[in-house]
Amino acid sequence: MTPRTLLTIAGSDSGGGAGIQADLKVFAALGAYGTSVLTAITAQNTRGVDAVLPLPPRTVTEQLDSVLADFTVCAVKTGMLGNPAVADIVAEAARDGRLPQLVVDPVLVATSGHRLGVVSAVELLLPYARVATPNCAEAAAITGCPVDDVAGMVAAAEALAAGGPEYVVVTGGDLGGDEAVDVLHGGGSSTLLRAPRVDTRHTHGTGCSFSAAIAVRLALGDPVPAAVGVAKEYVLRALTGARGWELGAGRGPLDH
Ligand code: PLP
Repeated sequence: MTPRTLLTIAGSDSGGGAGIQADLKVFAALGAYGTSVLTAITAQNTRGVDAVLPLPPRTVTEQLDSVLADFTVCAVKTGMLGNPAVADIVAEAARDGRLPQLVVDPVLVATSGHRLGVVSAVELLLPYARVATPNCAEAAAITGCPVDDVAGMVAAAEALAAGGPEYVVVTGGDLGGDEAVDVLHGGGSSTLLRAPRVDTRHTHGTGCSFSAAIAVRLALGDPVPAAVGVAKEYVLRALTGARGWELGAGRGPLDH
């Protein structure tokens, strides 16, 4: 039996809640095998990001070449890219058809406020994305329009889809309210996805986990809307599971 193999191209979170660590936990939890290309090393915990070391672009290329030379990767997700030179490398691999079923999580700023990426780097990848998963702040930064309600989310999703991704999910968990409403746009129409808001401080890595779960389901053959639905259920379960946790003093991780 050969497990479905995924690749995450992302940054390391020493606290284990987001980035590469979250992605690999999601891959394992959903029954897939995870490989990883590190773009940057962050020193961080539940309270925030203390330092970031982007890895040399050559080291990123070497990891990518090693993984793709030996594994049949069924789906790929990208998270924190670290710097534009790394985005160039990843975009070139995507352009060459080496990154199937690409899910782009356009990581720009950690919730704690630390900058983790730049819009110009994300824009290089969007044309090759099967699915892009910005939160409201990321969608606003990329489109240049305010995204602070559902109408803004729909407009941003349409604008982003015009730039290349087959599907865009603008996640609304950071907007507040009783529900976490996401907007899924693709095939010319938008759908609202609703879930109850989980009252918890353990939300660190939610975006990473959502996009990683979408990638697993795409690797297993789901169409995009079904993959997004399963990923939303997965995140809801992981948030609910960690609700009673006392892990770190800040925004703790999810329960995978
Ligand atoms: N650190 C890394 C390496 C990440 O990839 C991300 C998000 O994608 C974060 C931190 C920020 O996560 P959050 O905004 O959930 O705190």
